[in-house]
Amino acid sequence: MVEGVDWADVERRALGAYLGFAVGDALGATVQFMSVDEIATAYGVHHNLRGGGWLKLRAGQVTDDTEMCLALGKSIVDGGGFDAAAAAQALTAWLLGKPTDVDHTCRRGLRRYLADRSVCAPPNAGDAGASAAVRTLPVALASVGDPAALADWSAAQCHLTHNHPQSDAAGLALGRMVHALLTGGGHKAARAEANRLIAAEPQFRFQPYPGQAGARVVETLQTVLHAYFRNDSVERCVIEAVNRGENADTTGALAGMLAGATYGVEAIPRRWLGRLDGAVKTAIETQVPALLAVARRRLAQRPARCPA
Ligand code: MN
Repeated sequence: MVEGVDWADVERRALGAYLGFAVGDALGATVQFMSVDEIATAYGVHHNLRGGGWLKLRAGQVTDDTEMCLALGKSIVDGGGFDAAAAAQALTAWLLGKPTDVDHTCRRGLRRYLADRSVCAPPNAGDAGASAAVRTLPVALASVGDPAALADWSAAQCHLTHNHPQSDAAGLALGRMVHALLTGGGHKAARAEANRLIAAEPQFRFQPYPGQAGARVVETLQTVLHAYFRNDSVERCVIEAVNRGENADTTGALAGMLAGATYGVEAIPRRWLGRLDGAVKTAIETQVPALLAVARRRLAQRPARCPA
């Protein structure tokens, strides 16, 4: 797949994925932990970056979902590839900076790293939350063209904080979808990856949509996939996801990631991009080409394959 890749088009979609992720996080955070009915009563349809919510955010402010991606992504750029210890170091530095929000499983995992420098959480039946899988994007961007690296890095980055088969499966499936979408595969290629996930872990089945958008990775992914495959724009996809409430910052982020990778950065509503936290927007615009450069450099260094 690497030969003949249009890297300018990949970058346009990668920027769409990362900025779509951030605006989805910022939009969803306003209605995190609210029910569908509470959102409808408060906003009708919630569709503007207005801040507030339980975290009392500024309009356009993102949460831990985007901040963890940026920390992980910077460690990959700085190291020229994924390294579990470097990633753990970056995420613990973020944790110690007193972020606005921290998922409890992430906090526990990063405290474990601080205590004993171990980079792999022990298997835990309680680790089926979505907060490891949500960090997939930087790993996917740095491994474009190398599905084996994606699989290794995705599992390793999840295991920094979570060790559960559903978390692992979701992270890998999201990464594979991003890879397929960055090279223009669209809904059809993403659907093949969703089907592959459901074949391996049938709990992720999302048709008919079970209607729950909680923090468990199964519910989060069902909501994201339901919103993504039913809509044909970034705006409609993200709005549908976040108006399901509950884990809305994370569902919004992942819906924005998939739709942004599908339709490209120019498809993100200007009213959202214009409100997004300026420092976050700049960090993403810097990190996306740097992560893709990591992928390209690694591919260029790979030994040539024998002609068929
Ligand atoms: Mn969050």
